Amino acid sequence: MTTARGDDPWTEVGDRVFVRRYRFYDQDIVAVLGDGGEVLLVDTRSSPAQAREILDDLRTLGAGPVTVVVNTHGHYDHVFGNAQLRPAPIWGHERCKVMIESTGEQQLAAVRAQVAELAPELTEVVLDPPDQLFSDTATVDLGGREIRLAYLGRGHTDNDIVVSIPDADVLCAGDLLENGAPPFFGDGYPMDWPATVEAMLAMVGERTVVVPGHGDHAGLGFVRSQLEAFRSIASLASRVDAGELDLDSAIALAPFPAAAAREPIERGVAQLRGELEVEATP
Ligand SMILES: [Zn+2]
Repeated sequence: MTTARGDDPWTEVGDRVFVRRYRFYDQDIVAVLGDGGEVLLVDTRSSPAQAREILDDLRTLGAGPVTVVVNTHGHYDHVFGNAQLRPAPIWGHERCKVMIESTGEQQLAAVRAQVAELAPELTEVVLDPPDQLFSDTATVDLGGREIRLAYLGRGHTDNDIVVSIPDADVLCAGDLLENGAPPFFGDGYPMDWPATVEAMLAMVGERTVVVPGHGDHAGLGFVRSQLEAFRSIASLASRVDAGELDLDSAIALAPFPAAAAREPIERGVAQLRGELEVEATP
């Protein structure tokens, strides 16, 4: 799974903004090149070996060492390669660091148990959270190019950020958006997710390239359709909570296949009942 064979090569989706779509988890990794040879990398994949694969693949772009890293959120498939990118500074939301510190070992144990093919590579993982932290917005100077980071609210986790490259009109959405598969709600906040994507939509124009955490890059129409799905989930959860619908009926009405709809609606109901706040990180 760590072989590059079968992965799409880099695609330049905007001026010196490259996306590589890895077959493992159908994940998108983004590299932005600065005017003076600087390289910014968005996310570091699931293991040190996978991170080294990114570094090998960057050589095909003629890119130098990675100078800045951004973590879109604290899930293992976005951060377990972090240590391989040092000494580059790593940017992330302040709760991304908290998530890695408080759940990293649990995530490691869970993925080791659940993803057999990855287990041998996980022995090498060193948890290495972001050290450049922010709460709302931050700007990174990439050799004359301005990269904007923004936290827009809770959604897929409590620490998702978006990365915008205004001079190329590209927006990296992390796992707030997934293309081709239902988004993962296991750590999500279904009642907040629609407002977070509305805030993202305000950053997306007719020609903006939107890169999700997984699946093909897309544009405005894709963001709108995902927003409709999130609104539908929140509405169904509200109706279940109010006693207007039973859970199975809500699942049947959901915009995702039944197997993928139960967790979002159940978590939405749990959020409405205040049950997610106890697990919320400070
Ligand atoms: Zn995720």
